[in-house]
Amino acid sequence: MFALKQRILADGKVLPGGVVKVDSFLNHQLDPSLIVDIGREFAGLFREEGITRILTLEASGIPVAFMAGLELGVPVVFAKKVRAKTQDAEVYWAVVHSFTKGIEYDITVSKAFLEKSDRILIIDDFLALGEAARGLVSIIEQAGASLAGIGIVIEKVFQGGGAKLRAQGIRVESLAMIENITEDGHIVFSEV
Ligand code: 5GP
Repeated sequence: MFALKQRILADGKVLPGGVVKVDSFLNHQLDPSLIVDIGREFAGLFREEGITRILTLEASGIPVAFMAGLELGVPVVFAKKVRAKTQDAEVYWAVVHSFTKGIEYDITVSKAFLEKSDRILIIDDFLALGEAARGLVSIIEQAGASLAGIGIVIEKVFQGGGAKLRAQGIRVESLAMIENITEDGHIVFSEV
């Protein structure tokens, strides 16, 4: 997605450890018109998949998932991040290691909002090592629902999460793929 890549180059900041900061349009301040376009792009990619629900992770996945849900006409569920392992029988949960914070946290989704008959699209802002996506896939498996694919705004290809998920046969569509970050902090996109 050309406009997204241009925006990352113009306004993104590279932090130590391969973290890309896009707080000015995606992760803190939001650019509504870019997010509308991102939602449309995801909807176009997955329109033929018979999606019945979108699953994302709070907080940064919500705006893009919301827009994709509006375009596809389906509900959007966001997994909640919680501190302690929950024993609540009413929720599905998974443990996720946070790439940016270096801690483990649990994510939960109420059993009321995922059905066995659902065909689910996962959407998130970043894909790095693939931990968040793995947790969301686990929750879909626990619900007995089917996974249509994963839509990612920015994939950091060099961190390997996308390759792991694709090797499992999961369809992963990323709108901007960062192949590499050079030693002097320049972002290099994949050719595709
Ligand atoms: P993963 O679980 O794939 O290692 O990392 C994905 C999650 O970590 C995303 O939900 C995202 O919130 C966060 N994340 C990973 N890498 C980055 C990054 O470079 N920048 C930002 N802002 N968030 C990231």
